[in-house]
Amino acid sequence: MEDFNAANEIQDLQYFGEFGGVNPSISDSSTYTFLSAKTMFDTFEGNGEGCYLYSRHSSPMNVYLAQALAKMENTAAANVTSSGMGAITTVLLQLCKSGDHIISSRTIYGGTYAFLKNFLPPFQIETTFLDIDDFEALENSIRPNTKILYCESVSNPLLRVADLRRLSTLCKKYKLKLIVDNTFSPLSISPIRLGADIVIHSLTKFINGSSDSVGGVYCASQEFIDETKNVNSGACMLLGPTMDSLRSASILKNLRTLHIRMKQHSCNALYLAERFEQDGLKVSYPGLISHPNHELMKSIMHEAYGFGGLMTVDVETTERANELMELMQAENLGYLAVSLGFYKTLFSCSGSSTSSEIPEEERLAMGISDGLIRFSIGLDDDIERTYRKMRACMQKVGILK
Ligand SMILES: *Cc1c(COP(=O)(O)O)cnc(C)c1O
Repeated sequence: MEDFNAANEIQDLQYFGEFGGVNPSISDSSTYTFLSAKTMFDTFEGNGEGCYLYSRHSSPMNVYLAQALAKMENTAAANVTSSGMGAITTVLLQLCKSGDHIISSRTIYGGTYAFLKNFLPPFQIETTFLDIDDFEALENSIRPNTKILYCESVSNPLLRVADLRRLSTLCKKYKLKLIVDNTFSPLSISPIRLGADIVIHSLTKFINGSSDSVGGVYCASQEFIDETKNVNSGACMLLGPTMDSLRSASILKNLRTLHIRMKQHSCNALYLAERFEQDGLKVSYPGLISHPNHELMKSIMHEAYGFGGLMTVDVETTERANELMELMQAENLGYLAVSLGFYKTLFSCSGSSTSSEIPEEERLAMGISDGLIRFSIGLDDDIERTYRKMRACMQKVGILK
């Protein structure tokens, strides 16, 4: 994977503002004028090269941000949306019509799971949920009407890593689209380089990184992006999950420091994961040799950005998890909050929060125990000090001696 560096791709993109500003100017308009009526007609028809029409379709700042994210994911094009779910639902609804079938990893973001499981079936779009590393089951469940194989590169919350190369081979054999949600591993995993067709991110997490914005993106071929924006049949154009220009300007500026933040998140998470594992806790982190996908992750990641900022600790019961999280928050070690990718450590109990859409029985079968705490490790400068303070909390609630 040495030949591609996503951070360099972003860095090489240079945008200037209208007056020579070092940041691009924000175009604060919902609609655009045309010098001739003919050009307006052509733009409606999708032939208005470089023309803006109406900001639900396209706007200059959104195009800047989308271009940067397309560079990052090594695709020809991208489109930004008002949320990660806005990107996921756009992609799925563009590709699937009534009667189609989807195969999905069963360890996915709770909102995506609920969309596939509850929202799509009334439209006659069915999903089979499987373990993404059970290749025999995956192949056996492919039907003539299967259109999509959907997974997360690093899954939520269990941090299982998808073997994207092998999944891509399977998809090519059966002409399925491989769609990968790469929210947990920006820069460190490049799904397109491993054979994915479409890559999705919730920009709300690491990419924006300041927990002040909600946003999403899908990165794909120019043809697919154009389809989703078609005025007659495009899922994004017609469902309308448009990102606001002011937001995209803000996210683009934060994207500029993503590489530094990812390194620090990963470095801190690896440190804590190693120390807590040595202390005898049930820690899951792809950077640990004990993690079932450690070697796989090493074989697909760009090493400089590390194994990511998320880790889980299983303290067995919800009561213990809650007690520990409340204490850590009181000690200012982080916040009891969902989401991830913030400067501050965030922790939540997955079973009762971000994965609560998944029925209890299925959750336990997946390995999401009631006491599983997901940590999104922050950018702490002195992680050794954080470790000592966290360990003291664990001792106080009886998780460690
Ligand atoms: C948060 C998240 C989403 C949804 O993104 P929103 O921006 O909240 O709509 C999708 N996938 C993953 C992996 C996420 O963590």
